[in-house]
Amino acid sequence: MAADGLVIVYTGGGKGKTTAALGMALRAAGHKKRVCMIQFIKGSWHYGELDSAGLLAPYFEMQASGEGFVGIIDDTSDRSVHVKAAQESLRKSHDTIVSGKHDIVILDEINYAVKLELIGADDVLRLIGARPEGMTLVLTGNHADPQVVEVADLVTEMREVKHPFKRGIKAKKGIDF
Ligand code: ATP
Ligand code: MG
Repeated sequence: MAADGLVIVYTGGGKGKTTAALGMALRAAGHKKRVCMIQFIKGSWHYGELDSAGLLAPYFEMQASGEGFVGIIDDTSDRSVHVKAAQESLRKSHDTIVSGKHDIVILDEINYAVKLELIGADDVLRLIGARPEGMTLVLTGNHADPQVVEVADLVTEMREVKHPFKRGIKAKKGIDF
């Protein structure tokens, strides 16, 4: 287990998992630490953080999802497309982690990718084991695997108390995406 670096998990059904990871990225960039975020699953809308990455360069880097990467939430493509995309994100994650160029690597929605069986919990455990000394890994997404929770240093479960979506209020630019 790497010294210094932490394994952080943001999970649960309430809003704020990706936002918490981005907040940490903003904080770390202020200390001129290098952060990379890799998205495992994304919707079809354009997330603000994709462009914030440019504003915080070179400290915050967003690994664009591979060509043909399709959001699973609002997409009807064949499952094999999603498996391929998740495997590609996994490969990118591994390369990024072992390159050791970053202080923090955020794997956004990776927990959800495991839950959907697009990748295995063992894949995530291998990534955790592969990180160089001093690197912090942040794993977001609901339904974090118990084995991942077990090895993590910090686990926060977002619990929904209220969400405007439940009152029919749609996702808002800058708040939700
Ligand atoms: P965010 O990206 O806003 O921090 P999240 O990472 O915690 O949210 P995800 O599971 O990634 O949540 O959900 C993606 C989208 O669903 C976001 O637009 C988010 O605002 C919305 N969302 C999150 N939690 C809920 C909820 N409990 N009910 C309805 N929509 C939600
Ligand atoms: Mg999220």
